[in-house]
Amino acid sequence: MSSNDESSVSRRAVVGGAALGVATAATGSAFAKTPGTPAGAAPAAGLKDPRSGPKPPFEKQSQPWPGLSSKMTPKPDNGEQSYRGSGRLLGRKALITGGDSGMGAAAAIAYAREGADVAINYLPAEEEDARAVVALIREAGRKAVAIPGDLRSEAFCQKLVETAVKELGGLDILVSNAARQQTRASILDVSSEDFDATMKTNIYAPFWIIKAALPHLKPGSAIIGTTSEQATDPSKDLYDYAMTKAATTNYVRSLAKQLAPRGIRVNGVAPGPIWTPLQVSGGATMEKLESFGSMTPLGRPGQPAELAGIYVLLAENGASYTTGHVYGAAGGGGMP
Ligand code: NAD
Ligand code: MG
Repeated sequence: MSSNDESSVSRRAVVGGAALGVATAATGSAFAKTPGTPAGAAPAAGLKDPRSGPKPPFEKQSQPWPGLSSKMTPKPDNGEQSYRGSGRLLGRKALITGGDSGMGAAAAIAYAREGADVAINYLPAEEEDARAVVALIREAGRKAVAIPGDLRSEAFCQKLVETAVKELGGLDILVSNAARQQTRASILDVSSEDFDATMKTNIYAPFWIIKAALPHLKPGSAIIGTTSEQATDPSKDLYDYAMTKAATTNYVRSLAKQLAPRGIRVNGVAPGPIWTPLQVSGGATMEKLESFGSMTPLGRPGQPAELAGIYVLLAENGASYTTGHVYGAAGGGGMP
């Protein structure tokens, strides 16, 4: 989410409803047997106009937290039809928190199509989204492990890592992506329970999970944290959430230095406004949702699929000299 809330309404009037070009869709048959490309998934080819994609104004919508991708209008693009793999993560073993929807789902689908086995964690209420992701991982010919549970418990975080390691036969990619974001107009509206839940989910859980995972990570392994442009440019109505993202960016940089001698890389991804369940289940006000993404230079929110390539890059051997960095994807605004 960008903090430029005030500019969103006027900007919306300018860009709202403008019909820009549609993404180039390649015709499939030549690619039909490409490894990592499931049947029926059109490979990404040709030019994609970065202005293309769903734009504000969006329909009013609200779901109880944590929200389901399948119930959003329009449905987010997690790369189901577009992501095409080329063996960049062959034989790798990944655990992704929040892997049922949003950026976590996009990373899970891309990792599987790049040849990795993938374990995903999510809340029991998100079983429907999780099942869809698990089906796509299996369709890509890889092992999928579904581990529902609440990350606010240290005991569960330890169990999660233990189960992932056992089921995958090891672990070499950890994507700490799950987060809680609830908009509150005033600090006076943030209860201690609220504050605690945000800190437990966004700060304690990565701490517990990384500690549990570390003994299993061999040299060449990668840890990726999902941070946010909120780390450096916080919105006024995301007091507690934004500070957890500053903490995320900070631990990425600290741990990168600490773990370099062990051959483990640590990097972050800093999204701008992305069309995911987090935003429609209390993460944004209705007003912000309707004009979501309009304040960015591209005039639209990003789709989770548009970040999949960054998660792949940060995990693969090709980025072996990259550690302690934060990659942004914010439609032209924000700072990583
Ligand atoms: P999302 O709702 O799809 O993903 C968040 C996930 O967090 C949920 O699917 C849920 O499984 C998980 N989660 C939350 N609380 C949990 C708990 N207590 N136990 C277990 N799992 C829990 O939304 P998203 O936008 O894809 O979020 C993914 C990451 O992206 C988050 O770290 C978020 O802060 C970050 N981010 C999102 C945006 C955006 O605009 N959507 C912008 C910047 C950063
Ligand atoms: Mg979800």
